[in-house]
Amino acid sequence: MPFHEAQTGLEAVLGDRLSRSKSDLDLHGRSETHFPLTPPEAVAYPETTAEVAAIMKACAAARCPVVGWGAGTSLEGHGLAIKGGIAVDFTRMDRVLEVRPEDMVAVVQPGVTREALNHELRATGLFFPVDPGANATLGGMASTRASGTTAVRYGTMAENVLALEVVLASGEVIRTGSGARKASNGYDLTRLMVGSEGTLGLITELTLRLQGQPEATAAATCAFEKMGDAVDCVIATIQAGLPMARIEFVDGPTVAAVNAYSGADLPVMPHLLVEFHGSETSVAADARFFGELVSDMNGQAFKWAEKAEDRTALWAMRHHAYWAILAARKGAKAIVTDMCVPISRLAEAVEITAQDIAMAGLEGPILGHVGDGNFHAILLVDPEDPSEMARAKQIADTMAERALAFGGTITGEHGVGMGKLHLMEAEHGEAWGVMGELKAALDPQNLLNPGKIIRPGNN
Ligand SMILES: Cc1cc2nc3c(=O)[nH]c(=O)nc-3n(C[C@H](O)[C@H](O)[C@H](O)COP(=O)(O)OP(=O)(O)OC[C@H]3O[C@@H](n4cnc5c(N)ncnc54)[C@H](O)[C@@H]3O)c2cc1C
Repeated sequence: MPFHEAQTGLEAVLGDRLSRSKSDLDLHGRSETHFPLTPPEAVAYPETTAEVAAIMKACAAARCPVVGWGAGTSLEGHGLAIKGGIAVDFTRMDRVLEVRPEDMVAVVQPGVTREALNHELRATGLFFPVDPGANATLGGMASTRASGTTAVRYGTMAENVLALEVVLASGEVIRTGSGARKASNGYDLTRLMVGSEGTLGLITELTLRLQGQPEATAAATCAFEKMGDAVDCVIATIQAGLPMARIEFVDGPTVAAVNAYSGADLPVMPHLLVEFHGSETSVAADARFFGELVSDMNGQAFKWAEKAEDRTALWAMRHHAYWAILAARKGAKAIVTDMCVPISRLAEAVEITAQDIAMAGLEGPILGHVGDGNFHAILLVDPEDPSEMARAKQIADTMAERALAFGGTITGEHGVGMGKLHLMEAEHGEAWGVMGELKAALDPQNLLNPGKIIRPGNN
């Protein structure tokens, strides 16, 4: 009933921008992966911070749950309204409010997508580097603390969000952080909000750190007979301090899938896809050094993407790898794992994972942002086959447990959502309880994305 009690107040704020159409509800109840359709009771489309604050106040008065929604590309069922209530869709708050090239800063509304921001920046000589592949919104990316192919060089959303405007569960609007590059001014509420998956507040504005477009860029692919050699090459590269802009691993089955999907013609072998940013001289030197490491590790078929359009095609192929893998098995859904370990344990982690998948008789191509020690197995499952689902979930859990045993984390970038909640105790222990206390302090009625991040029953 809470939604019905909030409905009149919400309609007064939003008029026909409060939608209850079945198509809208279904669109906001779907997940990119294997979670079942879970539609909210209504979808709100605010256009201003004041409207978001008014929505929050109306929902707080009626105890109606509120779940933020960006582009809906998160992979662990983050945005599903599992306790009912409304989805607040930020796609109409999609303006780049300010670009300050001299400070290398942009101020944006949360519904701006990373591609739209970079399109807007193209004449400035600047770009926003965080690149999760999917054309996610910056509000959603901040909420999941996203990263991706370029994090090895430019960091994650944690390093690239300088300041936020946030609507709290009470409807109060706060500002966190500033345009300064550093601060020593009390609790870091910006970083608390980044990665909080919409459980502590709704982000209505972001101040982002920008980077200068490099003078020179070089990208290449290289192949390896053995997966272990490819991963060892990554470890050697990172340990040598080579400033890679991107260093991505894809295994043989991933290459077969992208060949079929994107019309690529890479040899069906484990590959590294790399990119260097810098001056003409530094890029040439870095590429030469990397070439030596590749040949030391028995790498072959080194192929440069010379032209800008070749590089675009290379990274588009990488970004489409998830869809390519899904297309490799008709009707399959994915359980996407996200293990991140200290770089010294990476080779072992990838090898054991591949063995586990083979022993379970599953298809699970492996790929990842290996320069960060981060990789994914995309476990292809028939959602109607309970045995397959159980085996895949077991592998995902084993990978998470192994990540912890190796001194890493259960999720390097995708986040907790519904899929990783049961692993939070193992990762955080008592600290998970502290997260619950923070949640209770900021959202005592448990209105914001309830059922996510914190221990069930903690609030
Ligand atoms: C093919 C593919 C590849 C991917 N690769 C990567 C990758 O390399 N790295 C990576 O990090 N992720 C990756 N992802 C996952 C996904 O793109 C990220 O999780 C992304 O950050 C989600 O952004 P979104 O706009 O889609 O948010 P949504 O999925 O809409 O929402 C994500 C979470 O944020 C909350 N939220 C959204 N907007 C707000 C707001 N304004 N205020 C408060 N809470 C909000 C939602 O409630 C939800 O909990 C990939 C996904 C796909 C489909």
